[in-house]
Amino acid sequence: MVVSAENVIRRRFDLRGQVQGVGFRPFVYRMATIHGLTGFVANDGNGAVVEVEGRAAAVEAFASELTEKLPPMARVRQLERRDMAPVGDAEFRIELSHPDPNRSPEVTPDAALCNECRAELFDPADRRYCYPFITCTNCGPRYSIIRTIPYDRPATTMAKFTLCELCAKEYADPSSRRFHAQPNACPVCGPRMELCRPDRSTIEGDPIRETARMLAQGRIVAIKGIGGYHLACRADLNAVVAELRARKIRDGKPLAVMVADVGAARKICTLTNTDVVALTSRAAPIVLAPKRTDHGLAGLVAPGCKDFGVMLPYAPVHHLLFTEGLGALVMTSFNLSGEPLTYEDQDAFDTLGSAADAFLTHNREIFRPIDDSVVFGFREDAIPIRRARGYAPCPVRLDRSGGGAFPRGHTAKILAVGGELKSCVCLYAGGEATLSEHLGDLIHAEAYRNFVRAVHRLKVLFNFAPELVAHDLHPRYLSTRYARELGLRAFGVQHHHAHVASVMAEWNEAGPVIGLACDGTGYGTDGAVWGCEILLCKRGTFDRVGHLEYFPLVGGDAAAIETWRPAAALVRQTLGEDWLERAGAVFRGVPTEALSVFERQVVAGVHALPTSSLGRVFDAVSFLTGLCARNRHEAEAAMALETAAGETAADPYAYCVTERNGRVVMSMIPAILEILGAVRSGEPVHRIAARFHETIARMLVDATAAACEATGIHTVALSGGCFCNRRLLGRVVELLEARRLRVLYHRQVPSGDGGLSLGQALVAAWQSAEPETVARATET
Ligand SMILES: [Zn+2]
Ligand SMILES: [Zn+2]
Repeated sequence: MVVSAENVIRRRFDLRGQVQGVGFRPFVYRMATIHGLTGFVANDGNGAVVEVEGRAAAVEAFASELTEKLPPMARVRQLERRDMAPVGDAEFRIELSHPDPNRSPEVTPDAALCNECRAELFDPADRRYCYPFITCTNCGPRYSIIRTIPYDRPATTMAKFTLCELCAKEYADPSSRRFHAQPNACPVCGPRMELCRPDRSTIEGDPIRETARMLAQGRIVAIKGIGGYHLACRADLNAVVAELRARKIRDGKPLAVMVADVGAARKICTLTNTDVVALTSRAAPIVLAPKRTDHGLAGLVAPGCKDFGVMLPYAPVHHLLFTEGLGALVMTSFNLSGEPLTYEDQDAFDTLGSAADAFLTHNREIFRPIDDSVVFGFREDAIPIRRARGYAPCPVRLDRSGGGAFPRGHTAKILAVGGELKSCVCLYAGGEATLSEHLGDLIHAEAYRNFVRAVHRLKVLFNFAPELVAHDLHPRYLSTRYARELGLRAFGVQHHHAHVASVMAEWNEAGPVIGLACDGTGYGTDGAVWGCEILLCKRGTFDRVGHLEYFPLVGGDAAAIETWRPAAALVRQTLGEDWLERAGAVFRGVPTEALSVFERQVVAGVHALPTSSLGRVFDAVSFLTGLCARNRHEAEAAMALETAAGETAADPYAYCVTERNGRVVMSMIPAILEILGAVRSGEPVHRIAARFHETIARMLVDATAAACEATGIHTVALSGGCFCNRRLLGRVVELLEARRLRVLYHRQVPSGDGGLSLGQALVAAWQSAEPETVARATET
C-alpha cells in the first residue's frame, strides 16, 4: 500500500493492567493488521507497549478498538498515548518481551476453562478431544505456573515441553486463539495424565475413566489440578465421607463439593443470582450457599453448617470426570489438617500415600501451590472468605488522583506480613497493593516454611525489594518475628486498626471513619486481648472510642477452644461470685477440677487476660445453648450458632450501651442473664440463637451510632472475622443504613485475618509519609 507521507502518523500506547498472558499481543496484532498498520507490540516490565504507524484515520480506529474490544481476561487500567515521528516499518510484528528491571507488570490469576476450549474438549473431531491440558489465551493456568516475569513460556513450568509442529503453528499464527498462548499443548507434545497406585505404579487403562470408575465405587482418589492436589470421593455416601475424614484427620471442618453444573448445584443448595455469577466466573471459587433440605448428600460433608461450599468444574480434567456420569463429589484440599496444600508429586506420594486409594496425577509442575478460593454472595458482590486461586495476585488499587486513601509523595516499597491465622502477605508500592494467595495458619512449622518460601517467590516474581515492613503488634506471632528479623524499618500495626484500614483501602477512603472491628482476638495497645472495637480511624492513626466490656479470658490457648471458659467468665461477671451454684446445670459437663482451677485463676488474675473478644461471646452462647463445647476448627461454635439461628427474625434480648471515660462501652450482661433464663425454661435453641444474633447486631449498631454522633462522622467501616457471619453482616449493614450512615464493608479481601496485611501496608504507608500526624496522634 502506497500512502503519501502527510497522512501517515505513528502513535505509541503504554498500557498497564492485566495485559500479559491474556492474549493481548495477538489481539493487538490482529487489530493492527486489519487496519493496515505497521509497528510492533511487546510486553514490558510495566505491562505492554504498542506502536502503530499508518493513516491517521486507521490509527484512530485502532486506538478506540484497543480499549473497547479487549480479550476477555485482559484489563487495561492505565493507558498513555503519545504521537511520534514515523519510522517507516515494513510490517506489524510481535516483539520479544522488553523487561524493565525496576517495575513489575500485573500477573494474571489462573482462570477456569473457557467455553471455546470446552467445546473443543468434547468435539471428537478436534485434535484435543478429551485432552486434559487444553487451554488458550483466554483460559488456563497462569499464576500457579509462572516462575518469573515477563510472562513467556520459558518462565513457566511449561518450559520443558517443546511445541509440536501443529502447536507451534498455532502459537505463531496471529489468527489463532492460541497465538502466543504460553501453556499451549496437545496430546502429541504436552503434559500427560497418569493414574497411579500409592506405590507409584501405573494403573493401566484410560486414567480419567478409571478414576471415575473408582470414585463411583466409593474409593478415594487424589487428583492433581491447577494449584495442588484434591482428595475426591462421592459426596452422597456417609461411609465414604467418614473414611475420607478418618484418613485426613480433619475433624468437623466442612468439605467442599464439586458438581457438574449450575443445575446440579441448585439441587443441593439455594442459589441467588450473585451466587450463580460467582460460580460461573473465571475465578470459579467455592461459593457458600444454604443447603436445601432435600440435598441428598451425606451428613458428614458439612456437619453443623447451614451451607454447602460448592464449586463447578474449572480444570479440563474436572469436566472430563463429570462426563463419566458422576454425581456430587467431595473435593477437598489434599493436606493434613492445618498444614499447607500438597502440590509436589513426591510429597503427595510420600507423606499422604495412605490417604488415597489412587493418584490421578500429571507431569505439568505446579510452581506455586494455591488453594481454591471461598466466597459468599452478599447483595451484588462475591465476598471473599479465602482469597486464593482465581483472585490472587490481582492487586487492590488506590486512586492516585488525590483526596482518597493514597498517601501522596510516598514512594517506599512496603512488605506487610499479616497476622497468624489465614496468613496472607501484601506487597505495596505506589498505591498498588498486591496480595498473596491464602497461605494457611502460621502455627505449624511446615506452614511457616511455606510462608517464607511464598514471600521469597513473590519478591522474585514482582521484582520487589521491600524498604519497610509492617506487622502485627503481637510479639509471638511468627510473622512478627519474621518481620523484625528482616533488618528493615518496621511498623507494628494494631490488629483491629489494620482490619479497619484494610476496608478503608478497598473503598479508597482516608477517613475519618468510625471503624467497627469484630473478631476473635487481637493484641491490644493496653496488653488486653481486643476483639470488639470501635475505632476512629484517620489516615495512619486510630483512636479507640468504644469497645465491648472486658471479661477474663482464662486458660491461655484453651480459652479459644473450650467454649465453657468464656461462658463461665461471662456468667460469673453476670451472676457474681456464687455463679456456679446459681447457674447450676449449665456447667454440669465441665470437670469440677477444671472449674475450681478456673475460679482460682480468675480470682488471682493468673492466666486471665482481660478481653473484649466478640468471637468468644459467640463461643460462650454456643456453649450455654448446648450447641458446641469445643472449637475443633476456628469459629466452629460461632458457625453452629449462626446455623441454628436460620433466617427467622427475632427480638433482641436486653443489652447495655453506656459511656465511660469518654468511650462507648457495650455490655452483654443483661443478655447473658436472659439467655440463662431461656435455657433453663427450655426455650428452643434456634430461637435463642436468632435472638442472640439480633442482640449483637443492635448493640453494635447502637454503640457505633453513638460514636458517630459524638464525633460527627457519618461513615462506618466494618471489618473483622465476625462479619463472615452473613446474618450478622446483613443485619448490621441494614440497621446502620436505616440510621442514614454510609457503610463500608469488604468486597475484595476477606474481613477476617486474610485481609490484615492490606491494612497493615496502608497504615505503614501513611505513617511513613506523614510522621508528624502519627506523632501528634500518639501525644493526645
Ligand atoms: Zn480457552
Ligand atoms: Zn502439540
